[in-house]
Amino acid sequence: MAKTRYIFITGGVLSSLGKGIASASIGNLLESYGFRIGMLKLDPYLNVDPGTMSPFQHGEVYVTEDGAETDLDLGHYERFTSTLTSQKSNWTAGRIYEKVIQKERRGDFLGKTVQVIPHVTDEIKAAVFDVGRTVDVALVEIGGTVGDIESLPFLEAIRQIGLELDEEQVLYVHLTLVPFVKTAGELKTKPTQHSVKALQEIGIQPDILLCRAETPIPADIKKKIALFANLKEDAVASAVDVESIYEIPLIYRREGLDAAILRKLKLKGGRSRLGEWERWVKRSKGLEREVTIAIVGKYVNHTDAYKSLYEALAHAGAANHVRVRLEKVDADGLVDRDPREVLRAAQGVLVPGGFGVRGIEGMIRAAEFARTRGIPYFGICLGMQVATVEFARHVLGLADAHSSEFDAQTRHKVFLKLRELRNVEDMGHNMRLGAYSCILKKKTLAYRVYRQEKISERHRHRYEFNPEFEYKLENKGMRISGKNPERNLVEIVELAGHPWFLGCQFHPEFKSRPLQPHPLFVSFIEQAKRGATRGR
Ligand code: GLN
Repeated sequence: MAKTRYIFITGGVLSSLGKGIASASIGNLLESYGFRIGMLKLDPYLNVDPGTMSPFQHGEVYVTEDGAETDLDLGHYERFTSTLTSQKSNWTAGRIYEKVIQKERRGDFLGKTVQVIPHVTDEIKAAVFDVGRTVDVALVEIGGTVGDIESLPFLEAIRQIGLELDEEQVLYVHLTLVPFVKTAGELKTKPTQHSVKALQEIGIQPDILLCRAETPIPADIKKKIALFANLKEDAVASAVDVESIYEIPLIYRREGLDAAILRKLKLKGGRSRLGEWERWVKRSKGLEREVTIAIVGKYVNHTDAYKSLYEALAHAGAANHVRVRLEKVDADGLVDRDPREVLRAAQGVLVPGGFGVRGIEGMIRAAEFARTRGIPYFGICLGMQVATVEFARHVLGLADAHSSEFDAQTRHKVFLKLRELRNVEDMGHNMRLGAYSCILKKKTLAYRVYRQEKISERHRHRYEFNPEFEYKLENKGMRISGKNPERNLVEIVELAGHPWFLGCQFHPEFKSRPLQPHPLFVSFIEQAKRGATRGR
C-alpha cells in the first residue's frame, strides 16, 4: 500500500475562522480525485468529550454512528465528504490525558517519570496514525489557535510526525485572518505574520496559508504575506467570505489549492469530479420561493447550537426548490405569549432536541398549536417528548402528564429514564447514544417517507417513552409508527388525521447530506411548502 499522507490544519489569529469547514472542504476536494480520506479533530480543552458541555458554550454535540459525543466540526466532515466519523475521530486533551493516566495507574510505564513529551505526545500521535491506517490521506484539524498554552502538546506531536515521515507524506495548512481595516482603508497582514511566526517558533513551517478575508486578496498583498511566511506566492490562497459554505471546495479549486496540495504530497489526481456538487451549490443558491419554519427551542440564540438541524433544513429546502427561512423562537418566550401571534408566519413548526426544564411549557404550547391547527409539526427528541406530553394532557385529559425529567413526582410519567440504566447518575454515561435500528409500521407517515421497513438513526437522550401509555395514546389517535426491535422502545409517534405531525426519539439531522437530504426533512418541507402555496 502507498504511504499514507497527513494534512494538518491549524488556525491562527482568532477562533471561528471556519477551520472545520476548511478541513472538510479540502477533504471534499481530495475525494473528488478519488482518494480515500479520513478525518480527525484534536481539541485542546480538558473535557473528555463535549457531551457534558453546554450548547451555549460549545454549540452542538455531534453524535457518530458508534455513539461518540463529538465536536460539531465532525458534522461538517460528514456533510462534505463520505467519511463516517467514529470514536476515533475526535480526541480532546482530556481524553488523551485520561488514557495516559490509566496507563500510568496500570504500571505500563515501568516506573518512568510520565511527561508531556514523550508520553502525552505519543498518545496524540497514536490517535493520528490510527486514523491514517486505512486511508490515502488523513486530515487532522487542531482546535484552538496557535499560541494557546493548551494546544502546545498537539502542535509538538504534529511537528514530530513531520520529522518522522517522508517529506511528501506531511503537509501543514495554516488558516489565518487578513482583516480589512476601514479607517486605514487597507488589508492588514500583521496578524497573519505574527501567527505564522508563532508556528515557526515551535518548529512548524506551514506549507500553505489560507487567508480568510472579506474579498479576494490582491497579488501584491499575497506576495508580502508569502515573503514573511517564507513561502512561494502560490502557497498563499485567499479564502473569501461566501454565501453558502458548500461553495468553499469550489472556491479552493478555483484558487488552485487542490493542485498545490497534490503537488506537495506527490499525489497523482487525474480529473476532479465535482460536477454534481457544483450543480447542487448552484441550485441551492438560486432558490427564490421561501418557506418559513419556526424553530421553537431553548438554544435558538446561539447559532451553533443546532448546526446539523439548520443544515438538514437547508438540504431539504434545496430538494424542494425552496429557501427555508428560519424563524427562531425562544421557547421560554412562548410560555406566556399567544402562539397565534408568535407563530403567525410559520408554515411549519419544529421543536428540536434539548435538556433541562427551561422553555418546556412553551414547546408544549407550540406543539398544541400545530396539532390543533393542522400545521406541519416536526418534533425531534425533546420535540417528540413534548408533543406526546401535550397529547396526553389535552387529548387524554391527564393534566399532570409529564416526562420524569421535568416532574419526578407526577402520577403520569409519559417518559421515564432508561429502565436498564436507572440508578446510574454519572453524567455522560447514562444515555442512549449512537445508531439504533427502528422498524416502521406499514401505512404510516413514517413508512411513506422512508419507503422501507427497517431504518437506523442516531440517538442522544436519557428518557424513553413509557410503554404503559402506548395503548392509551394509540386509542386516541396518536400512532406509534416506529419501534426499536431489540428493546421494544418507541421511536416514532405521529397523528392520524393530521396533514403532517411526527415526532422521533432520534436525531435525523445528523445523517442529512446536501446530495442525500434526509427523507423526514424533505417530506416536512414539502408539506410546509403546500401550506405556503395555500397562503398559510
Ligand atoms: N432531555 C431529553 C432526554 O434526555 C431529550 C434529549 C434530546 O432532545 N436530545 O431524553
